[in-house]
Amino acid sequence: MNKNYDVVIIGCGTSGAAIAYTLSKYDLRVAVLEKENDVAMGTTRANSGILHAGYDPEPGTLMAKLNVRGVEIARELADKLGYMYKPVGSLVLAFSGHDVKTIKTLKARGDANGVKGCRILTKEEVQQMEPMVSENVVAALYAPSAICSPWELCLCMAETAVLNGTDLLLETEVVDISREKDGDWKVVAARNLDPLTQADAKDRKSTELLEFSARFVINAAGLYADKVHDMAAPHSFDIIPSRGEYYLLDKAEGFRARHTIFQCPDENGKGVLVSPTVHGNLIVGPNSEKSRPDDYSTTSEGQAYVKKASAKSVPSVDFRNNIRNFAGIRAKSDRADFIIEEAKGAENFIDVAGICSPGLSSAPAIGEYVAELLAGKGLALKQKPGEMKYYRKPAHFKDLSADEKNALIAKDPSYGRVVCRCESITEGEMRDTFGSPIPPRSVDAIKRRTMAGQGRCQGGFCGPQVVKILAENLGLTEDRILQNAAGSWMVIRKEDR
Ligand SMILES: Cc1cc2nc3c(=O)[nH]c(=O)nc-3n(C[C@H](O)[C@H](O)[C@H](O)COP(=O)(O)OP(=O)(O)OC[C@H]3O[C@@H](n4cnc5c(N)ncnc54)[C@H](O)[C@@H]3O)c2cc1C
Repeated sequence: MNKNYDVVIIGCGTSGAAIAYTLSKYDLRVAVLEKENDVAMGTTRANSGILHAGYDPEPGTLMAKLNVRGVEIARELADKLGYMYKPVGSLVLAFSGHDVKTIKTLKARGDANGVKGCRILTKEEVQQMEPMVSENVVAALYAPSAICSPWELCLCMAETAVLNGTDLLLETEVVDISREKDGDWKVVAARNLDPLTQADAKDRKSTELLEFSARFVINAAGLYADKVHDMAAPHSFDIIPSRGEYYLLDKAEGFRARHTIFQCPDENGKGVLVSPTVHGNLIVGPNSEKSRPDDYSTTSEGQAYVKKASAKSVPSVDFRNNIRNFAGIRAKSDRADFIIEEAKGAENFIDVAGICSPGLSSAPAIGEYVAELLAGKGLALKQKPGEMKYYRKPAHFKDLSADEKNALIAKDPSYGRVVCRCESITEGEMRDTFGSPIPPRSVDAIKRRTMAGQGRCQGGFCGPQVVKILAENLGLTEDRILQNAAGSWMVIRKEDR
């Protein structure tokens, strides 16, 4: 297989998905190559989910510009694509005179970045808006931020891109990039042929090498963006992974915070936050520790740090209601800003690297910015004939009226069978996902699409049922079904040990 594209995008986190989404409006041949078995499997899968207002980045940086524009587009996308978006607003708490100076600086930065609606609150105003905050608060910065589910935002942009003709190749890991005689790029990727032996490309028993030709290559490989860059251009930056650990608490704790509650940022970033999630849970974290790019483990030290640090803001959080701990890994670079530029010595090879926070907030604008960069390099952005199609997933069964529910059950009784009791997700909804532009391939992929397994029992109850539904729809036996990434079988066979 040697396929010819105008643009090949490497990586399908929010950056790659947003670029694909933006380019799918135009008459172009675009492919996205993703090494994992689903989209949003890198940094995008585990973060705070805050669409930051834009007061944090230094004025004049690409981060500032793309953050502010990104959240503007993200708000519009919530209507078009129907992902969950809640404009809850955020507070940066001040506990001392020094902190008050910091929040005033942040407010000035917000003003300079063009953020509307930031204001400094008195202690009384803070306490009225957030009854659970610490008595020790002296003031706060309010900003009009929002919350979302990061994987849902990524998925709906990728689904819409696919619906509009983008080729998405999962389990396809780019292993080499070179220049062809005609000046186009040759991208070589190893694709897993056998879903039963999922492993890293180098270890796979059954891989085929695919070659793609492309006029432009976009490197949106997140934590591996430095490695991918080095395949095409002289080394010019390093990615320095930094892990952040979280607590996700049951909905019973959701009332502890109405806004996203930050402390003043320091050299390690935005610090530990306490925030509602779009699904009504409470999220607390993250810390910041140097790590490997693939080490998503949580540690007792990290968790203890997060717990203690969060008590400074909201002392009453009841951690006995914790339902999950998880970690995300930041892809910071050794530069102070996002790196979105043509790589030196590699014409038409564009790096989208060092996309640390506020990368999720900036993603839709990263799509727009990269499209402009490509147009500047001579790529014709001609609108596709006809209307752009937007993919919207079906409404949750539990949110329908009684009449709508009855009509669906009459058509297909599987809508009447609740599989995930915590989130009230039906078998019919799960089956629907296999007809979507990017069908699920793992238990967690079902969770990302339906919320099944996201509730209090974390899939303890519905897990076996979900495995059954996946096996039926993928034509596999149940012992081959993955929880999430390569090698994470739900059931281990003797021969796999
Ligand atoms: C703890 C934490 C909290 C955060 N909180 C926020 C927040 O609240 N708000 C915010 O705006 N931002 C936040 N961020 C930042 C945000 O999560 C990232 O900026 C964003 O997810 C980056 O997306 P990406 O697409 O650039 O990278 P990724 O999501 O990592 O995507 C890169 C993709 O490339 C793929 N890939 C890598 N190598 C190859 C290869 N060789 N071939 C094919 N595919 C490859 C990977 O599998 C991956 O899917 C946070 C980050 C962390 C870690």
